Amino acid sequence: MRNPPESIVCIECGGTAHLISYLPEDEPPEPGTAFAYRCSDCIDRFDVVWEEEPD
Ligand SMILES: [Zn+2]
Repeated sequence: MRNPPESIVCIECGGTAHLISYLPEDEPPEPGTAFAYRCSDCIDRFDVVWEEEPD
């Protein structure tokens, strides 16, 4: 599976930021697609560009 994580570490405060973008279930995300996360601690929103990991 090569999907963006459901939650990541907030770049602002180190808290937990949750994915709020819609993830298509029938196809993998395109590399370069930006996914939005919102931090549950500082309520900041930021976009993370998804890059496929090299093999
Ligand atoms: Zn935060």
